[in-house]
Amino acid sequence: MTKTLYKNFSLFDGNKDHFEANAYFVVDDETGKITEAGTGLAAEADQTVDLGNKYVMPGMINAHTHITSDVSGKLDPLGSPKLTPVVATKIALDNLSDLLKHGVTYIRDVGADFDVDIQLSKLEKGGNLFAPGICASGRPLAMTGGHFCTLSYEVDSPDEARKAARQALKNGADNIKLMATGGVSFGGESPDDVQLTEEELRAAVIEAHHKGRTANAHAQGTEGIKNAVRAGVDSVEHAFYLDDEAIQMFLDSGTFIVPTLIAVYGISDRGEGQVPDFMLDVAREVKKAHMESIGRAAEAGVKLAMGTDAGTPNNDFKNDSAFELQLMVEAGCTPLQTLQSATINGAQLLKIDHEYGTLEEGKYADFIVLNGNPLDDIKLVQQEKRVFKKGVEVK
Ligand SMILES: [Zn+2]
Repeated sequence: MTKTLYKNFSLFDGNKDHFEANAYFVVDDETGKITEAGTGLAAEADQTVDLGNKYVMPGMINAHTHITSDVSGKLDPLGSPKLTPVVATKIALDNLSDLLKHGVTYIRDVGADFDVDIQLSKLEKGGNLFAPGICASGRPLAMTGGHFCTLSYEVDSPDEARKAARQALKNGADNIKLMATGGVSFGGESPDDVQLTEEELRAAVIEAHHKGRTANAHAQGTEGIKNAVRAGVDSVEHAFYLDDEAIQMFLDSGTFIVPTLIAVYGISDRGEGQVPDFMLDVAREVKKAHMESIGRAAEAGVKLAMGTDAGTPNNDFKNDSAFELQLMVEAGCTPLQTLQSATINGAQLLKIDHEYGTLEEGKYADFIVLNGNPLDDIKLVQQEKRVFKKGVEVK
């Protein structure tokens, strides 16, 4: 067993609210786990890496991706009947590589073609794929004709939702993704449309929880958001329109919000001339309300987990995870809330916090090395950085 000592850096460990100067940790090279962490003088190790007085934080956890979505637009899109398993897998591997290089060391994928995320997750867990860890959902559940029904199991009663959830769990899903409302990036519907009912959502949530897994819901309009929280989901994705009652429901239940601000921004601010007019119109209308909702939720103390919806228009697998943190600050989150959302909170939501999300003894050495303190300027997370996955530097 060889050990590597990392020394001479300031550390945001995910537990404390600040960077501690003069920090070190020791990593077991075989397991990739931290065996010792602290400040000041470190113990002996077989080799030493001097991090040059830089700033170290846990690798980012992105709780909302679609890894089989091709952002270049050259290949068939997410949910397309023309997409093949080989092409979807190639897209996913490229996206995972981009995520890791840009500091995302764990993802929750919430809608992938052909259950590609489930299969790649198994490879990564078995040590046969160098990639971000994956909490996989496989295919989502939607009502017949509902949001991304092209990708989803179509279900129209609590019994059908139960059956599809059981099938997804049988296939190996770690999480059940549910479509509670319409959305922006899919024609013929609006974010306010209620889709899966509270009873349908609850039937699937119960199955996920019985198996010790999680469930989350795409929900943008207020009524659908409340349906999802009452149904017991672990997180609500997007949450465009939050009234006071909705915010109180999140506080009472402990349900997370995954804002995905970049998904709207990618259309409203980067989409001119690229996406259909109906999407531009909806995105500009919802952007202001969305930013205000997330700001109010953050101020009230609702638990937030960072997610980007990577794979939607102009929303990449590269630096847009770090850019999401900037948008969260612009919406009114504190820099500390955003770092927690991408580390310890993400790990708690994905139920991987016994091994990930903080840098301390017993946790995997998934970390990024920044040139400055992101609590002073959140944009620093977007700069060039070194990335380590289970103690191995990403090249
Ligand atoms: Zn999504």
